[in-house]
Amino acid sequence: MHELSIARSVVDEVAAAAFARGFAWVSGVRLEVGSLCGVIDGALEFAFELAAAGTPLEGACLEIVRTPVRLWCPTCLKVVQPAEDAMFVCPDCGNSCGELVSGRELVICAFVGQVSAAAAAE
Ligand SMILES: [Zn+2]
Repeated sequence: MHELSIARSVVDEVAAAAFARGFAWVSGVRLEVGSLCGVIDGALEFAFELAAAGTPLEGACLEIVRTPVRLWCPTCLKVVQPAEDAMFVCPDCGNSCGELVSGRELVICAFVGQVSAAAAAE
């Protein structure tokens, strides 16, 4: 399952970052997911819950922010957003644009949590 491997790497990455910052636990994670990632929100939320179990992220809520597909149009010389995600065509001039500016990324934007007492005392 595609979403489970994504969820596992998100949990690993956030857990490591949280540990490095002295967090005792993480209560929320915001994730930016490009429209072309082929990720289903509900499946990712479910997979995240599974992957987070037994880690400092257990019970954390996952906020998924969708980033739209954006293309560079070499004719209009600007970044455009296609009418349909899978159509790499400029909505202004109708020419095809091959260069993807965004839409395939998967980025951990932020996470919130509780700093452990030991770290807070330092
Ligand atoms: Zn164009």
